[in-house]
Amino acid sequence: MLKPTRLLFLGAPGSGKGTILKRLLKRFPQLHPISSGDVLRSQISKGTEIGKEADKYIKTGLLVPDSTMVNLITEQLRELNGLNDKANWLLDGFPRTFAQAEKLTEILDTTNANLNLVVELDVDQKLILHRIESRYVHLPSGRIYSLDYNPPKVPFKDDVTGEDLVKREDDNAKTFKKRLDKYNEEIGPLREYYQKLGIWHSVSGETSDIIYPKVEKLVYEL
Ligand code: AMP
Repeated sequence: MLKPTRLLFLGAPGSGKGTILKRLLKRFPQLHPISSGDVLRSQISKGTEIGKEADKYIKTGLLVPDSTMVNLITEQLRELNGLNDKANWLLDGFPRTFAQAEKLTEILDTTNANLNLVVELDVDQKLILHRIESRYVHLPSGRIYSLDYNPPKVPFKDDVTGEDLVKREDDNAKTFKKRLDKYNEEIGPLREYYQKLGIWHSVSGETSDIIYPKVEKLVYEL
């Protein structure tokens, strides 16, 4: 990786984004990750005014207002000395709306620290829904099973304790479809915006072993 990398990473819920991110950060430790969800949760647990306000939106499944998000993330970037043309960082979960994207470009342009790579994980959403449907969890330990590719030894029983496996409340096709629909709604304007800027890339594949090398290559070839 020769050039400073300022990456926005996007992927639908259930796309395996977390797995790819982990591998990417291990390979490129200089990429400081900033996750908007983590930043918000940290504000909430510290009990700040912003946290209290954000909590109301998050609880009702709404997006936190654009100006709050832009201020929060800009502050994070400033703290890690990310507002200059040598900086390396990775954004996860922000920008999420067209207005956030526009505002971020405006701010980063003033310090020559703009995004230079946007990667979307494009995973077949029928496959995501199928995976979610077949996912069962052992609640006390958090162990996750898939009826398809990682089934328990005894059907619907945890391998270690023999206790019952259950479905997580939000792991059903109906609620998950809602989350996917919301993502699809948000992603359209972002895709168009970053395509126009010439930095949008879409990476597809059925497993993270297929997807990950493609993402790594994009970072190398920047
Ligand atoms: P996440 O962990 O990314 O799913 O974020 C959890 C919640 O935080 C979301 O459902 C939103 O309510 C809020 N949130 C996270 N990122 C943003 C963003 N960029 N803009 C607005 N709200 C956000």
